[in-house]
Amino acid sequence: MHTEILNQLSTPVWILAAEHHDILFANPAARAMSDGRQLVELREGLYSAHAEQKLVSYLPSLYANEHVIEVWTVFAQGIETALSCQLSLVEHGSQGPAILVEGLIGAPVTPRIGSSPTEARLCSMPVCGDERSFYERLFRTNSAPMLLIDPDHDGRIIDVNHAATRFYGYPREVFCTKHTWEINALGRDVLPVMQEVAKLPGGHRPLHFIHHMADGTARHVQTYAGPLVIDGRRLMLCIIHDITEQKRLEEKLEKAALRDALTGAWNRRQFLHLLDYTHEQKLRYGHEYSVIFLDADHFKAINDQLGHDVGDATLKMLAHTLETRVRKADTVCRWGGEEFVILLPDTPLECAHHLAEALRETIEQTTHPMLPKLTVSIGVAQHEGDEETNALFRRADQALYRAKAAGRNRVVAATPAAEPRSDAA
Ligand code: GH3
Ligand code: MG
Ligand code: MG
Repeated sequence: MHTEILNQLSTPVWILAAEHHDILFANPAARAMSDGRQLVELREGLYSAHAEQKLVSYLPSLYANEHVIEVWTVFAQGIETALSCQLSLVEHGSQGPAILVEGLIGAPVTPRIGSSPTEARLCSMPVCGDERSFYERLFRTNSAPMLLIDPDHDGRIIDVNHAATRFYGYPREVFCTKHTWEINALGRDVLPVMQEVAKLPGGHRPLHFIHHMADGTARHVQTYAGPLVIDGRRLMLCIIHDITEQKRLEEKLEKAALRDALTGAWNRRQFLHLLDYTHEQKLRYGHEYSVIFLDADHFKAINDQLGHDVGDATLKMLAHTLETRVRKADTVCRWGGEEFVILLPDTPLECAHHLAEALRETIEQTTHPMLPKLTVSIGVAQHEGDEETNALFRRADQALYRAKAAGRNRVVAATPAAEPRSDAA
């Protein structure tokens, strides 16, 4: 993609790496609106809404040319505001699929016409009798919850169908005194999002929200919102699809695929995935990274003397101690058995060594009434130059071996990678 053309545009345009959630390109208008914010802040900000959390989940829809939009939290004249964005696929570099995100600025807003919001109902559509009863029947008898909303009156709920009263648990009379912000977990922050969606022609992938039910419980929902003009007034018809169970299963599957079943720490697969990403960050921005290899000392004796269950509980506690002690950006992974590895992005050897020593000391001092005392041996290595992952792991493993050989319960830093041989030698 030739980005020079995009630089000329007055509308904001971003190009994102779908797999790594990275901003690969932003034109001047986009940079002004991002105001130095990370992608996660734009997509997960105060006024943000999306259909999918992970960008890669959009790829099938984008390949099928479906209409995909997100609402981002951006800055205009220094004020946080909502911006609806259109997503499409784009060729960009060799870093896997890229997504073009185009801010939909200046989409026409239909002028506000009409009387009091309470008067508009779906059954009062100015259409011929047959057509009106058809629409009314569709609305009343549909098993999907439907809400008719007035975006120009604070998101007032004008009408609801039977399925909606059953789903949310409010009688129709009560429901029709409420506003979208009273049922949406975003509260009043949903209003700018709703205004953005109201400008769109509809037909896009539904957005994901959390809605509150009358009994105080929360449900994950997808809302299919489309414009509807009744008595000359611009309203929004929202069809609600409950995806709470689907969300729960997705989370469970993700956990099963990426987490270790016993300790809940990340598994080897996720570690290697994040290591790839961290490595790319080093190549692009020069951020140094390190790894910690950690092995519980004399763990076999714990199993032999106290039983396998106590061994399991000790491993769980070890994982918990590690996870609570590292930074948010670090990844604790159970490599196998009583061995853990920790990935430390943006961390040179000296800091990694310091953290490893703190971990060793914390574990040595942690006591639990039902569990034995535990110590660990640790090898630390910083990735050097262009060394292969295997070479990095070998150096960390050798350092761990030396920590064991030196008496256990200690930290050893890896020796530097061998200098590449000079051709002249
Ligand atoms: P060292 O200090 O040299 O590391 O000694 P060690 O006893 O920890 O090392 P060794 O490799 O001989 O034994 C590791 C033990 O960890 C043996 C294995 O049964 C135990 N282990 C591995 N995975 C699990 C697990 O999931 N649960 C329990 N309870 N024990 C495990
Ligand atoms: Mg071991
Ligand atoms: Mg061991």
